[in-house]
Amino acid sequence: MELFVTERGNKGLRFNNYTYRLIEVNKKSKRFRCTKKDCPASLLTDCDEQNIVKIGKPHNHEAPSTHAKEMQTARASIKRKAEDSLNERPSKLVCSVVSSFSTITSRDLDNLTRQVRQYRLKSRPKLPKTREEVLSVLRDYDSDFIMEIDESLQICLITTVENLNFLSSSTHILADGTFQFCPRYFYQLYTFHGTRNGHFIPCVFALLPNKKEATYTRALQMPRHV
Ligand SMILES: [Zn+2]
Repeated sequence: MELFVTERGNKGLRFNNYTYRLIEVNKKSKRFRCTKKDCPASLLTDCDEQNIVKIGKPHNHEAPSTHAKEMQTARASIKRKAEDSLNERPSKLVCSVVSSFSTITSRDLDNLTRQVRQYRLKSRPKLPKTREEVLSVLRDYDSDFIMEIDESLQICLITTVENLNFLSSSTHILADGTFQFCPRYFYQLYTFHGTRNGHFIPCVFALLPNKKEATYTRALQMPRHV
């Protein structure tokens, strides 16, 4: 008898080559049921999951092959590791999990590597799909940056206290926009530069939704109001 963690993070038990999952905790025992759907087999262990105290109905299928068992173990382990160590390369992570397994093929490795990427995608927040969603994320973003958002004109100004102090102490301020390097869903990145020793230093960044006059007018006013 061997205990393990299932793909869903629940408690599992392996006995006579069959796998079971925990379905019920009683005062004096724990009930495990076969992981195969429609199979009535179950067994009871003591509370500490040290001994099997009762074996229920028989299985209605053959015991899973070594390959199926190894894949089950690999998937469960990979799911946890994919979320715990986000910086580990997927192929390397898979190799570390299956290194002692004997039946894993190169095709299995490809499938498991793909699964690592899928698990990670699920655990990350969804990317915004509209400008409104971008502004909403920025509005709730907890950081040391100063974010000033004009809801009606959909302008977002990003800066820091130090940058604002630098800008306000500059004798000359240069403002310039670029259409080439601008985050998705915005039209233009507009930058306010301060000057020091003949150099222009970008201090305030504004994401603009279009190049209308009203947008520029508002963007030029915003740093003064922050
Ligand atoms: Zn079964």
